[in-house]
Amino acid sequence: MGKKAIVLDASAFIAGLDPLSLDCDAFTVPGVRFELSPSSMGALRLRMAEESGRLVVRQPGEEALEKARRASALMGDAIALSEIDIELIALAIELKEEGYEPVIATDDYAIQNVAAEVGIDFTPLSTLGIREELKWVVYCPACFRRYPADIKERECPICGTPLKRKPIKKGARELGGR
Ligand SMILES: [Zn+2]
Repeated sequence: MGKKAIVLDASAFIAGLDPLSLDCDAFTVPGVRFELSPSSMGALRLRMAEESGRLVVRQPGEEALEKARRASALMGDAIALSEIDIELIALAIELKEEGYEPVIATDDYAIQNVAAEVGIDFTPLSTLGIREELKWVVYCPACFRRYPADIKERECPICGTPLKRKPIKKGARELGGR
């Protein structure tokens, strides 16, 4: 059995996940830094985990990126995934090829769909013991309609594109504690 590795997207950091609290190797891609406000707690957690050596920030190679893009296109999800989403999936593909058992921690349905297509496990953030309540925005990346955060459908009821579900970025207020 391979060594477990968890691949974290930006929402994991925004939601308050501390990679230091995980019992396995944690990975993310460089682009996630740009999805976090520079002065936020999420950015701070990422930086501290990286400096302590518990989090590896790594850009996946072109071969894995191509596999992730192909799977995404196959699903008709290409339009729904950002370049950073593709990189996270590619990183998981690469880790799997290196003998890890990667799990992508994400609440984004589009990422989950493509991960399933390439045989990568994923887990919702709630399974990682995140207590902080996030505010979500749910929208269709194709027709740009917005939906209530608790919508049950995973695809846009109007055009059928997999919905994007992202946490709303928190501002500087986060630094002030509760
Ligand atoms: Zn739509």
